[in-house]
Amino acid sequence: MQREALNAAARPTMAGALAVLRDVFGYDAFRGRQEAAIGAALEGRDALVLMPTGGGKSLCYQIPALLRAGTGIVVSPLIALMEDQVRALRELGVDAAFLNSTLGWREQQEIVERLRSGALALLYVAPERLLQPQTLELLRGVAVSIIAIDEAHCVSQWGHDFRQDYLALNRLAELFPGVPRMALTATATPRTREEIAERLALAEPQLCIGGFDRPNIRYAVQTKTDARRQLARFLGQHRGEAGIVYCLSRKKVEAIAEWLVGQGFDALPYHAGLSAEARAEHQRRFLGEDAVIIVATIAFGMGIDKPDVRFVAHLDLPKSMESYYQETGRAGRDGEPADAWMVYGLQDVVQLRQIVDSSEAGEEHKRHERHKLDALLGWCEITECRRRPLLAYFGDRPADGGADCGNCDNCLNPPATWDATEAARKLLSAVYRTGQRFGAAHVVDVLLGNETDKVAQHRHSQLSVFGIGKELAAAAWRSVIRQLVVLGYVRVDPDRFGALVLTPQSRPLLRGEVELRLREDSREPVLRKKPKVERGAVPEEDRALWDALRECRRRIATEQGLPPYVIFHDATLMQMMEYRPTTLDAMLGLSGVGQAKLERYGERFLDVIRQHE
Ligand code: ADP
Ligand code: ZN
Repeated sequence: MQREALNAAARPTMAGALAVLRDVFGYDAFRGRQEAAIGAALEGRDALVLMPTGGGKSLCYQIPALLRAGTGIVVSPLIALMEDQVRALRELGVDAAFLNSTLGWREQQEIVERLRSGALALLYVAPERLLQPQTLELLRGVAVSIIAIDEAHCVSQWGHDFRQDYLALNRLAELFPGVPRMALTATATPRTREEIAERLALAEPQLCIGGFDRPNIRYAVQTKTDARRQLARFLGQHRGEAGIVYCLSRKKVEAIAEWLVGQGFDALPYHAGLSAEARAEHQRRFLGEDAVIIVATIAFGMGIDKPDVRFVAHLDLPKSMESYYQETGRAGRDGEPADAWMVYGLQDVVQLRQIVDSSEAGEEHKRHERHKLDALLGWCEITECRRRPLLAYFGDRPADGGADCGNCDNCLNPPATWDATEAARKLLSAVYRTGQRFGAAHVVDVLLGNETDKVAQHRHSQLSVFGIGKELAAAAWRSVIRQLVVLGYVRVDPDRFGALVLTPQSRPLLRGEVELRLREDSREPVLRKKPKVERGAVPEEDRALWDALRECRRRIATEQGLPPYVIFHDATLMQMMEYRPTTLDAMLGLSGVGQAKLERYGERFLDVIRQHE
């Protein structure tokens, strides 16, 4: 956009910020804590911005960068993310660029010139690049309006995204005195929050903490019975939509992707073992098309800004609540209904505990990791609304206080619990009588009185506990074991090939001093109640216009070599369908239509609307 005009027209005030929000971005009002963050930056103060994915963090530094004199520097760890943001800004008519290793010498020179001439509103750089002497030298010669540090949790050594380069960013305080700095992240517990402020040497930062709730995401966790069949049933509700399926290993990613293709889904694998070209191509298709499913290890996702991801499915457990929240947060950034769905079973619990226990890390670090894993496992097992404890983990509460959310599996289909005290005692006895040397499968055989080879070999049919558990099926026993492991009543010993062993907590339970209620694993959860958040369905009579609008967007996107959502979001097309503007002025009133996009595409969409009158 005409930055000089903007700068001249508006002193950096909140009124100016609102004008930029409307003219450049096409939005009516600030969201959540955006106003506080922008206000701090305009006053020249540091800020720490915590907002969930999709909360609108980028505007917090983009608007001050447009209003204050000089160029805004954005530190971002991922090339894909930088490119995405720069593309989107250019579409809005904002002069932005990135400096990274993908650029040739000539391109870099050209950017340096734009920077020196003061034309650039925003410059994105990777941390290691920023801290190179020649980059710092270059930046010292120009006016810097603001320094934004995106994905600021990368500075936390406890976090799963720790990056060494981030630690050196504290030098920016001395290198650019007087320039406001803003740290932004979507994942931060209160502890990480303090760590960020401290390690980045923020000066009394304005805290801008947006709610962590993502009300449009529906959380659901199922017990793993037949993962593929469960996944297929889940995906049946998402035909023709884009989503991500996470698995732990590359091998599994490949197998699931192939299997999904066989089931008629447009699925692509994504993991660190694929060539850079294959990864880029799969990501390009995911971003550029409407209904691609990416099956990925966690290598995929950070820096993916696709707003219309309709589901995130986990076939394996993530490592912690932080990872879970971050990964599921990639769904529904556009605010439309989306699903976060996960299956897990005893095997996952055992496997993840093992990974933590056998890591090379120090004891303190391991204890910390164990803690985080336990928090996640406990959350999987709960029988009440899932949203409250999820938010509580991040020090947040639902907007309406303590009410149930009505949009998670436990709210929609409250799980039954049962008095499992007696069953748990039988199980612990069986573990004890067999010498704490056997895994779940054998212990269940003993409880059921199955005459297996192993039973014969160890003469376990002679034990008093042999066959005392016939009232429950094998699957029910596995469910009991899983829950007892999560609750700490029994432990899986990785040094003894996954043998179940008793813990200090077992004793009171064995003695009958505590009562235990467990969750009844329903195998085929049906959603009984109607969810609060309904799919934004297109009415039949609007179908033709809707399809035509999307087709128009797709054609423009292809011409420009951009993903469709960079042209307009679904939400903006929805508004076109609803309000059917017939003039450019009316079009400008829609959310997501700013000056630049109006000039570029307004007429073409008006044509489509006129044709459907
Ligand atoms: P984050 O970086 O926090 O994940 P983004 O900055 O990508 O989120 O914003 C998410 C989406 O919300 C974007 O499409 C953005 O254009 C939109 N958005 C941001 N602020 C507003 C606002 N004030 N009104 C309407 N939409 C907004
Ligand atoms: Zn709920």
